[in-house]
Amino acid sequence: LLKAGVNHDIFSLSTGVILGFSLRSYKMSYREVKYFSFPGELLMRMLQMLVLPLIVSSLVTGIAALDSKASGKMGVRAVVYYMSTTIIAVLIGIIIVVIIHPGKGTKENMHREGKIVQVTAADAFLDLIRNMFPPNLVEACFKQRMFKVDIPSNDTSTVASIISNVSAAMETLTQMKEEMVPVPGSVNGVNALGLVVFSISFGLVIGSMKEQGQALKDFFDSLNEAIMRLVALIMWYAPLGILFLIAGKIVEMEDMGVIGGQLAMYTVTVIIGLLIHAVIVLPLLYFLITRKNPWVFIGGLIQALVTALGTSSSSATLPVTFKCLEEINGVDKRVTRFVLPVGATINMDGTALYEALAAIFIAQVNNFDLNFGQIITISITATAASIGAAGIPQAGLVTMVIVLTSVGLPTDDITLIIAVDWFLDRLRTTTNVLGDSIGAGIVEHLSRHELKNRDAEMGNSVIEE
Ligand code: ASP
Repeated sequence: LLKAGVNHDIFSLSTGVILGFSLRSYKMSYREVKYFSFPGELLMRMLQMLVLPLIVSSLVTGIAALDSKASGKMGVRAVVYYMSTTIIAVLIGIIIVVIIHPGKGTKENMHREGKIVQVTAADAFLDLIRNMFPPNLVEACFKQRMFKVDIPSNDTSTVASIISNVSAAMETLTQMKEEMVPVPGSVNGVNALGLVVFSISFGLVIGSMKEQGQALKDFFDSLNEAIMRLVALIMWYAPLGILFLIAGKIVEMEDMGVIGGQLAMYTVTVIIGLLIHAVIVLPLLYFLITRKNPWVFIGGLIQALVTALGTSSSSATLPVTFKCLEEINGVDKRVTRFVLPVGATINMDGTALYEALAAIFIAQVNNFDLNFGQIITISITATAASIGAAGIPQAGLVTMVIVLTSVGLPTDDITLIIAVDWFLDRLRTTTNVLGDSIGAGIVEHLSRHELKNRDAEMGNSVIEE
């Protein structure tokens, strides 16, 4: 574990927490907090800088390195893993919130932050699918006007529209928090889901092209290698960045005193649910399938998990997740390159668990009895909302709107849980990253025969050459 650099990460995490709490009494101004958090902000920006080229180059090379049959099989395994773990997570969320029952039907005396607008689940679904096919690839990487949802003229909500839109969701959320007014018409951002779909198709095609595709294959291979070297450089700076990200957040957070009884119970319920999924279900699944020690595997991921906790963003953590899986856990690059970018974009167990749990909590505070059909609807929309949520801070809070509207719950009540969301977001992001990583370990294990065959084939062709 020491070799894995765990000491640094645990050190920066704990120092960040201690420093943050000890500086709280000093009551920094908004500007001072911004200055203080600056080293953390830099780390976040450095990591985000690499995400786009990393997603594209690793997916293209990962898939081109396999034959279409092998990548098809691997893809099916990955999707089965993503879907089943997400559904398990949703079920845990539902069961735990029904048992603990944190909401008592008295929302009137709960603290609210702001207001949120209505949007339909159908719009959200269509948007999700629409975004898989960006009409302009270059535009998909830059600022764009990407949504064509027909919104009635008196409702300019774009909440559904910001699904899978990396920085836009953040921007909108910030605006929702500050002024609580919906952002009209267009939002700026990156369409990660669209890029993933494109890169997969592109990789498949290049892989099938033999010699003609070689130049592109080499290009993306070398791009990927170069990006990973940049990641290695950034990792030198990461412990300092994490320290300040965490300390900065603790310094600026609101006093816990504001959090009332129900919200505190809700927070504890989410934590218990996430712990059950992350500490029991995922390790057990890993053990049952691979027969290897899950704790050794998770030990190799500490750096990624701490980064997830610090950044609240599974896509910003992606470069570190790659590093941990490939260099510490020795997972085959053909697997990580394939499954990690997809996982970071669509597989979010923590978010799914939280979406279902929070929706039922809101039903509870409204004294709203959910029937079985509605609970099924919540499970389905929570799964979709987690797929649609971008891997950025608090995206899950935004996609919550879909879950609530699907069963007719008041979306305004999202404001009841905003106060604790920054914290729960960090925990669900860590769970999301863990889910993706364990998925890579499991898919590698299940695909070992194809990988071996492919190695043998490549070996033979080298000999023939
Ligand atoms: N912040 C989470 C992530 O990046 C998404 C969410 O808000 O649930 O994985």
